This record gives sequence, structure tokens and C-alpha cells, in this order.
Amino acid sequence: MDDRRIRDVVVVGGGTAGWMAAAALSATMGDQLRIRLVESEDIGTVGVGEATIPAIRLFNGLCGIDEDAFVKATQGSFKLGIEFQNWGRVGDSYMHAFGQIGQSLDLIEFWQYWLRGRQEGVAAPLGHYSFNETVGRAGRFARIGRIPNTELDGISYAFHFDASLYAAFLRGLAERNGVVRTEGRIRHVRLDSQIGHVAAVELESGESVSGELFIDCSGFRGLLIEQALETGYVDWTHWLPCDRAIAVPTANVGPLRPYTQSIAHAAGWQWRIPLQHRTGNGHVFCSAFMDEAEARRVLLDTVEGEPLAEPRTIHFRAGMRRKAWNRNVIALGLSSGFLEPLESTSIHLVQNGIARLLSHFPDRNFAPANIDAYNRRIAYDYERIRDFIILHYHANQRDEPFWQSVREMAVPGSLLDKIDLFRATGRVFREQEELFTEVGWFQVLIGQNIVPETYHPLADALTRDELAGFLKDIRTIVSAPVSRLPTHEEFIAHQCAA
Ligand code: FAD
Repeated sequence: MDDRRIRDVVVVGGGTAGWMAAAALSATMGDQLRIRLVESEDIGTVGVGEATIPAIRLFNGLCGIDEDAFVKATQGSFKLGIEFQNWGRVGDSYMHAFGQIGQSLDLIEFWQYWLRGRQEGVAAPLGHYSFNETVGRAGRFARIGRIPNTELDGISYAFHFDASLYAAFLRGLAERNGVVRTEGRIRHVRLDSQIGHVAAVELESGESVSGELFIDCSGFRGLLIEQALETGYVDWTHWLPCDRAIAVPTANVGPLRPYTQSIAHAAGWQWRIPLQHRTGNGHVFCSAFMDEAEARRVLLDTVEGEPLAEPRTIHFRAGMRRKAWNRNVIALGLSSGFLEPLESTSIHLVQNGIARLLSHFPDRNFAPANIDAYNRRIAYDYERIRDFIILHYHANQRDEPFWQSVREMAVPGSLLDKIDLFRATGRVFREQEELFTEVGWFQVLIGQNIVPETYHPLADALTRDELAGFLKDIRTIVSAPVSRLPTHEEFIAHQCAA
């Protein structure tokens, strides 16, 4: 039988996306593939991107990474969720905490009881029933599978880390698995004259690197997927109009928070990401409503520590490549699209693209049906995350022109359906393989002050006293172990200090 297996894979780009792809492919298919990675130190990487979601632990597991060694090597810290300040109204604060909230009884989620309790004045704020949020706000951390002596899930966590150090860490792993790195600037992408596939990338040194499958991790420029194949871009700036970020690292001040902060400003928002050796900060803003000098001033006025470098501006456009996979090129990372880091999803989208590539791994026939199926799944993943991010902007009650305009804009039908269902019934349904869970959506919907008209009728099965007792018990269970946990700094110092 004719062997159509792919042997030669070329990864173009050595940022987070490139080294994630090289590490994962070499860890899983290293004995079948020759993997080369081309990158240019002169061009460098985007150099930001530091907060993740819990799924990254699956990726690290797939690559055989020891978690403490990884946290140590990347100056990492632990992340229990994201605190949103000033998003609904100035002065508001809520957390999108990872993991479970409360405990469901019988058929319905905990939050249906909470909605009823809220209506009847016997419920505390939602975060008091979240173990992650309670532990996070106390500045503590430990790896806990279950809350001791209960059936309630323990801590669900992700990481903050220095993305450049993560790429370097993955590079070590990939090279040990046989990946060959070539340093050099690509000046030309050569296409096969018959089928239009990418045949090779040619470097300024004159060297040519050929392959059968190319993974484009060249960043915003999309060297293969766009500059060579002209795949096109689906523009979402009418829903996500922020188009710039100014980033600046600062010295750490005060206790190391085990969560990301997202603080809304007049025409955008600011991130604070605590690492062991510094805090990452950035101001994402909409240039149609705020000029760069003003955005920079807002950022420098609100960082907590001394800046450690000059602020740097990054331009972007929300959207995704028309096809993430075109001919024999698969785009991962910034070359495949961009959604602002409000819910820390970019590195996840890289991981997701790699997982889907593994399940759709082609042979040299490059079956169009396989490529189409991959592209449909990637588009679905992007669109669902897009909707979740739009929700944060759209459901606001602020009065600045930027916030008024995003409140009044027409949102995608898929998001409108979710909001309408929630308003009318208090229910959220997770569709297919949607990334964010029902409880994630619930926290943001409530946090942005969308209050449902009712709750599930099964929540009436309890008497008012039973309901109050149930809510009180959950709160006690969630808060009791917190003071016995180490602080976030203590945990890191003991397990994984850099
Ligand atoms: P890059 O880092 O740009 O790497 C591109 C690579 O291609 C480089 O190695 C470069 O040398 C190489 N290259 C390009 N052209 C050539 C050429 N001609 N020849 C040879 N080599 C070439 N993600 C998160 O998950 N969480 C966050 O909190 C987060 N925050 C972000 C904040 C901002 C403002 C931005 C812009 C992004 C953020 N991201 C975040 C996204 C995250 O930074 C990126 O998804 C991730 O780093 C992947 O980048 P990349 O590898 O695709 O591209």
C-alpha cells in the first residue's frame, strides 16, 4: 500500500505558539515525525501573555511536564480566577472564579437556590459560596482535590507565568525530544507550482527548509497563512472595538494575589498579573475613544509598583483567520486570530488548535473533508469565546461614550439567545464543546448585573428556613478550611520558588 504518512513537519515561529506546537507534537508523535522549527531572534516574539485557564494543566500533562519545575522555571504563580472591577458600574467588583460554586441538590444547580435566596434576602454575595474565590480573596493557595470531609470540589487552578520563559522551557523539552531548531529570518515562502501547497521556507542565509506539513506560528504577520496563501480574516472589531494595548512590567507590591485583576477604565480595561519576580500590567483600549498618550497616563497612574521598563504599545484587530487550516498550512497562535486577553484564552486557543490537529492529523492527501471539519471546530471555539468576551462589554451600566456605544451595539445572535434565556429563566446551557462552563457564564451574567426574572421552580422544594440553612451550611463549609491553608507566597516558597 502506498504510504501517505506525513514525516516532515516545519513549525514557523518560536513564540509561545511555536514551542507549544513543537513540544506537544514531539511528545506525542516524535517517533513518527521529523520536526523542524525556524525562528528569528532578530524579529523576536510578542513578549506578552501571562495568564491562563485550568485546561493548561492538561497540556502540560500531555507534554510530561513536572508542575513545580515548570512554575519555578517560568517565575510562575497560581491563578484561581479573575477579579473584574468597575465593569458593570464604577465601584462594582466580582470574580469569575474557576471551579464549582456551592453544591447542587438533586436536579438543579446550586445557583438556582442562590437566586431564590437572593430574592428572599437570605443569600450572601455569590462569591461566598465559591471555594476558589474565598481562598483567592484570602491570598491563600494549596492543591486540594476535595474540601476535607465533604463532597465539594476543592481548588481548580491555572497559572500566571512569563510567556517567554515558558517558550524557553518548552524549547528545552522539544529539543530533548529531537526537534531541530534553525535560527534565521525567512525571506520567501515557496509554493508548489501545481497544487499551491507550501513547499519550503527560504531563509536570508540561503538555506531552504522544506516540509509536508507547515505550522504557521509567525505571530500577527501570518507569514504563511496570510502573506503566502492569502487566506483572509474575519473581522470582529464591530463587536470588540479595542485595538491596542500598552504593556508595562512593574515591581511587586504587597501580597502576591492568586488571581488576575481586570479593571475597567473609560475606554477599555487594565490587567494586573502577579508573577514571582514582577507584575505584568497592560491597558487594552479603543483608539477611537482614547488616544495613546491618555491610555498610557491611565496605565501609569494606576499600576501599583515602580515600572521596570518603558511601556510598549501593541496593535491588534479582533477576529480570526477565515480558515485556520488552508492547504498544508495550519495557523496557531496570533497568526490564527486574536481575541483580547480578557478571559486569558489565547494560549488556550493554541492548546486547543494543537489538540484538534492531533485528532485531525492529516496524511499527504490532505483530505478536504478533514480540513473542513477542523476549520468548523476551530471557528466554533473562537466564536463561543468571542461571545463570552462581548458579554463583559455589552452588559454594562457605565456612562462614558465608549461604554454607551458597546452597550447599544447589536451583538451576535448566539450571545443574544443566551442573554435572553438567562433573563427570562435564570438558566444557562453549555452547547456542544463550548469552553466556558455554565457556572462561568452565570458569574459573569450576574456580575454584570443581568438579573433574571425568575429561578427554577424546583428551588421552591425547600421551605424558606431550609433554604436559609442550606445556604448557611455551604458558606460555612467553604470558609472553614481557608485559614488553615498556606498563603500563596508560602506555598510557592515551599514548592516552586524560582
Ligand atoms: P509571537 O510571540 O509573535 O511569535 C512569532 C514568532 O515567529 C517569533 O519567534 C518570530 O521570531 C517568528 N517569526 C516571525 N516572522 C518570521 C520570519 N520572517 N522569519 C523567521 N521567524 C519569524 N494570551 C494568554 O493566554 N493570556 C494572556 O494573558 C495574554 N495576554 C496578551 C496580551 C496582549 C496585549 C497580546 C497582544 C497577547 C496576549 N496573549 C495572551 C496572547 C499571547 O501573547 C500569544 O497568543 C502567544 O504569546 C502566542 O504568540 P505567538 O507565538 O503566536 O506569536
